[in-house]
Amino acid sequence: MTIRVGVNGFGTIGKRVADAVARQPDLELVGVAKTRPTFEARRAIDRGYPLYVSGAGSPEKFEAVGLPVAGRLSELLAKVDVVVDATPEDVGRENRSLYDAAGVHAVYQGGEEADVAEASFSALANYDAGRGKRSLRVVSCNTTGIARAASVLVPRWGVVHWNVTLVRRAADPPESKRGPVNGIMPTMEVPSHHGPDARTILPELPISTAAVVVPTTLMHVHVNHVRLARPPASTAELVAAFRATPRFHVFAPWEGVDGTPQVMEFARDRAGVGRATNADMMENALWERGIRLQGNDAFFFQAIHQESIVVPENIDAIRAMFELADGPTSIALTDRALGLGVGAPAAGRAPPVVSPPGVGSHRGAPRTIL
Ligand code: NAD
Repeated sequence: MTIRVGVNGFGTIGKRVADAVARQPDLELVGVAKTRPTFEARRAIDRGYPLYVSGAGSPEKFEAVGLPVAGRLSELLAKVDVVVDATPEDVGRENRSLYDAAGVHAVYQGGEEADVAEASFSALANYDAGRGKRSLRVVSCNTTGIARAASVLVPRWGVVHWNVTLVRRAADPPESKRGPVNGIMPTMEVPSHHGPDARTILPELPISTAAVVVPTTLMHVHVNHVRLARPPASTAELVAAFRATPRFHVFAPWEGVDGTPQVMEFARDRAGVGRATNADMMENALWERGIRLQGNDAFFFQAIHQESIVVPENIDAIRAMFELADGPTSIALTDRALGLGVGAPAAGRAPPVVSPPGVGSHRGAPRTIL
């Protein structure tokens, strides 16, 4: 069975979700919808995605700049089983009546309030809550990062209390209408909305969050302090648990990844390696050196690539709604299609230094193959 998917809103999240849908064996990308003809509309055409006009947009404006349109949003909705709404905050709620009238399932994003959909969703933490639903909301980037980490900690060791300080990026890289400003802006709402949002996935999670916004565009970083009910025997066990979980990438000390600049450089470098075709970091990025167990208390840092982390969860949300697969199967299918996990060190040790045939020796030093 192939599920026909449309994407409404073709910006930061929408274009990545569209690419991800196009790579899944059991999903078909029928088209994408956009309000204005921009370079991103051109990108849809270049990739062969039928382009529809949504909202108050006019097809003539697209055609005037040489961008062929396949119709209006209503025509796209008539051809799909599910729409992924990736429009700006609050627009998804306005679109809900269109989706309901067309009789299509809908996946909303974290910028919408939780009650926009029947359930909030994060695949590792509550896949089954999405099964058979007609509408789901994939929680925001930071909440996805927290929910994934909770799926490692809660079932193994229990969480007594969890404090997270979120160091948030001020804007996405292409945004030129706001920040980053030269300052650190505390989010005065305490606790920040992230803790309550995580409880839309895990209602009992004893988490409390506070956030500051800093002048960077690359990633968010979470500083975590978790009191565990039944702690593991060692830090190594904690590291191993993160490493063994899909959608986590734990950088080993030998890799020289000191912070978010190298994390994103790593993501750019692996684009084109194996199945990893994009320069995104869809995994929670952790540093082995930054994971510590002290008595009952676990400490770890995790970096979250806000532009892409929710993309795999959007795919799993569709599979859950249509009951195409169970959680682990869907996660494995999604990750394989997107190349997640490529480049992950199997253990904390440096890999063997290998010289491939005919390469590397002419400069006097062997090449390291990662
Ligand atoms: P964006 O501004 O990059 O993209 C939104 C796109 O929707 C733009 O192309 C815009 O032209 C288009 N659009 C505007 N009005 C529309 C309408 N009526 N119909 C169809 N398209 C319309 O926004 P984004 O960052 O991709 O955010 C989308 C959603 O994802 C929001 O709910 C946001 O909170 C959430 N989200 C964003 C991030 C992030 O860091 N960017 C991370 C996680 C979740």
